[in-house]
Amino acid sequence: MSCNTSPFHMPELIRRKRDGGELSHDEIEYLIGSFTQGTVPDYQVAAWLMAVYLRGLSRPETADLTDAMMRSGEVLDLSTIDGKKVDKHSTGGVGDKTSLVLAPLVAAGGLVVPMISGRGLAHTGGTLDKLESIPGFSVHLSLAEFRGVLQRCGCCMISQTAEIAPADRKLYSLRNFTSTVENASLICASIMSKKLAEGIDALVLDVKTGSGAFMKHEEDAIHVADLMVETAKRMGVRATALITDMDQPLGSHVGNTLEVEEALAVLRGGGADDLRALCLELAAWMFCLGGRAPTVQCGKQLAEDLLGSGAALDKFRQMIELQDGDPSIVDDPKRLPQSHSAVDIKASQDGFVVSIDCRHMGIACLALGGGREHMGDSIDHAVGFVLHKKVGDAVAAGEVLCTVHYNSESRLHRARKIVEESYRILPDAPSKHRPLVRGVIRDVQLR
Ligand code: URA
Repeated sequence: MSCNTSPFHMPELIRRKRDGGELSHDEIEYLIGSFTQGTVPDYQVAAWLMAVYLRGLSRPETADLTDAMMRSGEVLDLSTIDGKKVDKHSTGGVGDKTSLVLAPLVAAGGLVVPMISGRGLAHTGGTLDKLESIPGFSVHLSLAEFRGVLQRCGCCMISQTAEIAPADRKLYSLRNFTSTVENASLICASIMSKKLAEGIDALVLDVKTGSGAFMKHEEDAIHVADLMVETAKRMGVRATALITDMDQPLGSHVGNTLEVEEALAVLRGGGADDLRALCLELAAWMFCLGGRAPTVQCGKQLAEDLLGSGAALDKFRQMIELQDGDPSIVDDPKRLPQSHSAVDIKASQDGFVVSIDCRHMGIACLALGGGREHMGDSIDHAVGFVLHKKVGDAVAAGEVLCTVHYNSESRLHRARKIVEESYRILPDAPSKHRPLVRGVIRDVQLR
C-alpha cells in the first residue's frame, strides 16, 4: 500500500494553475522534484504544462521554476579550469547551426565554452541531433569526461544528463509532444536552468523572432530576452541577448548532416552570408563578455582572424576526436551520412521570393524524417534541404528554389508539398529589408 505523506496534491496544483492562480515556491519545488524522481506521472505534469501555457506564470513563479530546475541536478563549479567560461544559447530556429561554429571558434580565441545543448524541439532543429550525425560522436559524457574535454580543448558540447539539469531533459521532451513549447516562462526556465548549471561567467542569448521562431512577434521575443537577462543577473552571470531574425531559415542548409556541412563551410572561412554574419556577431559578444575583446568590433575582428587562420576548424576537429567522433569528416564532409536521392523544386513563375514560411520549412524537415514527430522516433540524419533562393532573390520560372535530400518517396511526397507552399513568389521585390539583428538587450532592472 502506498503512503503519500506529501502536503502537496498534484490535482490541486493543476486546478489552481488552470484557474489562473499562483503556485508557491514550495509547491514548484515539489512539482519539479517529484517529476525528476519519477514519483509524479507524466500525464499530470503534461496537464500542468498546458495550464501554464494557457494561463502563464508570474515573475516569481518563473524564478522559482528556473531555480528548481537548475537545482534538480548539480550546479557545476569549473573554477579549477583556467579561463573565463562563456556560453551561447538560442531559443531555437530552422537552419540555426551557429552553436557548431561558436563553440570551437570561441574556444580557439582563449575562452572556455561548456555547452549543454538540446534536441530538436517542435519544428526547430537541435544541436545534439546535428552533432550525432558525426559518426561516433558522443553527447552523453559523464561530468568527469566533460571536465576532461574542457580542460584539453576548451570546448565540449553535451546533452543534459542525470547529473546536470535532469528536470529540463524530461520537461523538454514532454513539452515537445504536448504543444506546450511556446511559453515565455517555460522557455526561460528551460534555457536558464541548464545554462546556469554549467558554472559559466557569462552568457550570450540568441532570441529568435519571425515565422520560424517560437516568438513570432518582436515584442514577445523582447519579453523572453528580458526575462532571461534578468534571471542571469539575479544569479550573478553577465548576459546579453540579441534579438535576431528567424523569418526564413538561417543560411542555406536545413537538416542534421547538411547543417554540419554548412557549419564546416563557415569554419573554413566561407558559408552563407547571413549565417557567417550572425556567427561573427555572436562570437564578438562572447569575446566581449569574456574579456577577450574591448568592443564588439574588436571581437568580430578576432573571430574573423580565427576563422581565416584555420584555428577554429582545428579546434572543432580536436573536440570531435575527444568526444569519440570521426574527425576525418572535417576534411571530407561527404563521410557524413548522405541521402540516397535528391530532387530540385523549381519556381513555377517569374518574380521575387517575398517570403518563405520558416515554420513550415521546419515541419517539412520533420516530414522527411529529419526530426521527431512522435516520442521515441529515430532520426534520419541525412535528409533535409539546400535553399538556392531566399527572400528578396529574383527567380525565373523553372529556376531551382531548393534541393530536397530524401530517403523515402512517401516522405518526400508530403515534404515537397509543404516546401512548395512555403515559398511565396510575387512580381515585385519585397519592399522592406529586415535586419538580421533586430536589437540587443544588455541590462535589465531586477524586479
Ligand atoms: N531551447 C531550450 O533549451 N529550451 C526551450 O524551451 C527553447 C529553446
